[in-house]
Amino acid sequence: MRPLNRFTGCRARRYHPPDMLPLVRVPTLPGPPLRVPPQLEGLRRIAYNLWWSWHPRTRALFSRIDRPAWVRYRNPVQVLMGTVDWATLLDDGEFLSEYTAVLAQFDRYMLNGADHWFTRRHGHELPGPIAYFCAEYGFTESLGIYSGGLGVLAGDHVKSTSDMAVPFVSVGLLYRNGYFRQTIDADGHQEHAYPDYDPSLLPILRVADAAGDPLRVPLELPGRTIQVGVWCAQVGRTPALLLDTDVPENDDADRPITHILYVRGREMRLHQELVLGVGGVRALRALKIAPAAWHLNEGHSAFLLAERARELVAAGTPLDAAFASVRRDSVFTIHTPVSAGNERFDTELVQRVAGPLFDGDGRPGTGGVPIPAILELGLGVEGDRTQFDMTAFSLRVTNGANAVSQLHARTANATWHPILAEPILAVTNGVHAPTWVGSPTREAYQRFLDADLDDLDGRSDGSRFWDRIGRVPDRELWDAHLRQKVDLMHFARGRLLRQFARHGEAPAVLDELERQLDPDVLTIGFARRFATYKRANLLFRDIDRLARLVDDPKRPVQFIFAGKAHPADRPGQQVIQELFGRSRSPQLRGRVFIIEDYDVRVARFLVQGVDVWMNTPRRPLEASGTSGMKAAQNGVLNLSVLDGWWDEGWTGDNGWAIGGRETNPDDGAQDFADAMDLYRLLEDEVVPRYYDRDANGLPRAWLQLMRAAIASTIWRFSTTRMLHEYVERLYLPAAGVPVPQPGSGSAVHVITEAG
Ligand SMILES: *Cc1c(COP(=O)(O)O)cnc(C)c1O
Repeated sequence: MRPLNRFTGCRARRYHPPDMLPLVRVPTLPGPPLRVPPQLEGLRRIAYNLWWSWHPRTRALFSRIDRPAWVRYRNPVQVLMGTVDWATLLDDGEFLSEYTAVLAQFDRYMLNGADHWFTRRHGHELPGPIAYFCAEYGFTESLGIYSGGLGVLAGDHVKSTSDMAVPFVSVGLLYRNGYFRQTIDADGHQEHAYPDYDPSLLPILRVADAAGDPLRVPLELPGRTIQVGVWCAQVGRTPALLLDTDVPENDDADRPITHILYVRGREMRLHQELVLGVGGVRALRALKIAPAAWHLNEGHSAFLLAERARELVAAGTPLDAAFASVRRDSVFTIHTPVSAGNERFDTELVQRVAGPLFDGDGRPGTGGVPIPAILELGLGVEGDRTQFDMTAFSLRVTNGANAVSQLHARTANATWHPILAEPILAVTNGVHAPTWVGSPTREAYQRFLDADLDDLDGRSDGSRFWDRIGRVPDRELWDAHLRQKVDLMHFARGRLLRQFARHGEAPAVLDELERQLDPDVLTIGFARRFATYKRANLLFRDIDRLARLVDDPKRPVQFIFAGKAHPADRPGQQVIQELFGRSRSPQLRGRVFIIEDYDVRVARFLVQGVDVWMNTPRRPLEASGTSGMKAAQNGVLNLSVLDGWWDEGWTGDNGWAIGGRETNPDDGAQDFADAMDLYRLLEDEVVPRYYDRDANGLPRAWLQLMRAAIASTIWRFSTTRMLHEYVERLYLPAAGVPVPQPGSGSAVHVITEAG
């Protein structure tokens, strides 16, 4: 047997240089047998590392092995499990040299952490990794364990810890049925279907215990002890531990605890969150991983705080000291602006279900944490003693908390101040540019800026570096954008064709599609969860005015919408139905489209391929939003209400602001004012600017805006900048490690109040 690799736990021959980083090692069991020829053995290694999800060249390599399988599954493991014509590939010199090049890049990426930001600036000061807990992760479309923005942010966060060589381990749940897949029927009703993933086909491996058997961690629930299995998704250098209750040892009633993301039944949801918080701590302990600090991304994992207090009490620490100790090295990120959006459980339910777990058998002296103490720490700002508020609990038992934009920090402080010891900080969200910037645009940056997005780790002074975007010539920038736009149209047509055919549309209607979605037409995208406060229907306030806009013979406009409504959100589903009806109405047909099943793949096509990204939430209800950042980094212009990140991201010359910063308490009046401003901006600014072309057909003024959009976001709204802030403002203080002064080493750009 070859030795276990320290990073990945994979059995591999490489990786023994002296500069290897002390990152987190997770031992795993071998995956299913893949019939990969010995000459191409490295494919197995890269298939089981999600690095491919942000490395286009590796994706292209897997596509080359079996294009139909790649297109269908977007999962290298499933490509390698199929019947591959290896003989032909082994004769293909070009393929072999590409394989060698990709593998060398991967090995360099994994080995060479010494000159990365964290190692350079902080060396090996951290006594252990940061443990990061989140209920969902959006790493890539074939690993459907996310529902939306929170998960995608967590996925991007983890990817950046890998790029920057921050010692890190993330913890989540393996949802075998994930989140629902959406279709829309011919009447505009949203239909839900849950996928059924076979984990042995996913790019994850089972975690092994010391004896080399599948790791199990026990969890006491009323009247029984369940076993939790653990999987590892290796994300570059950073492992993600995914907990799974669907193991043979458990009863049929307990196996589904981790099946469905945000399961609806309250008791089942509580079980799920106990598995995440308590099971997660126990999995780290079983693997002998000793975190230096703990980060709760949103309150779903808050029981990890109770579990750690229980451990200390059981070891003899008095209760108050135990909670003080847990508080010292824990940090919390809040994601919702209003208190009603936060998770709560009936205290009676928590008492009944979590009692045995935290309080031993309840007898005095058995060393548990009494449930009343936990409930007291989870009393919400409304003072309702029948409810256990996960956010209030998290805020009280962590020593640093942050909101996800400047504006959100103000709202969150106003909501939570009665229970805060310290104000909630603002660490504005970012996105992982290598995941979101399209290849044509990325190549243009590479060619003319002489730098790759992979280098966005603070090695060079990121914020000034990207100011050189002016070096990319107009023609190249526009051509790169158009290539991405053509890709989007092709993708959207394919999706719509299937949708319309399923609805039983006539062949003539399907033919029409071939002439629609013209890449020469100004295209505006809108994709997000359909919650009513996001006001997807704002655009449809005045149908005649909209119809005149979209059907202007010289300067037409088309809109592409996508998004899911939560299965329990009827009003959100009605918005979808209204939109669908509009898109099929005689006035707007052929100019307004809805694409089904919004996920990270649909998101990539949209944020890379539209001209304008529209966002119309009711201020200040959007905590941050990240899709607009992805768009801007591709040179797509934001047309958005000044809410969330755009309130600080808008500079006046990098896109458009709908409305102003004051909010009318009368929602109806505010909606009307915003709708009128949206029409005015479209008619007077967006459309004329887009169609204003020079003799070569280039929209020079538009290209200026695109450059400003890129330069003002690619660093400032990157997860790289975000991680600099998390490390220096939250993680190091929580770990008790001194933070270097600004100016030593590479600068850290802390975003302060937007001017
Ligand atoms: C980026 C992303 C989101 C979050 O975007 P918002 O701007 O918050 O709506 C949600 N879903 C998917 C699939 C994404 O890629």
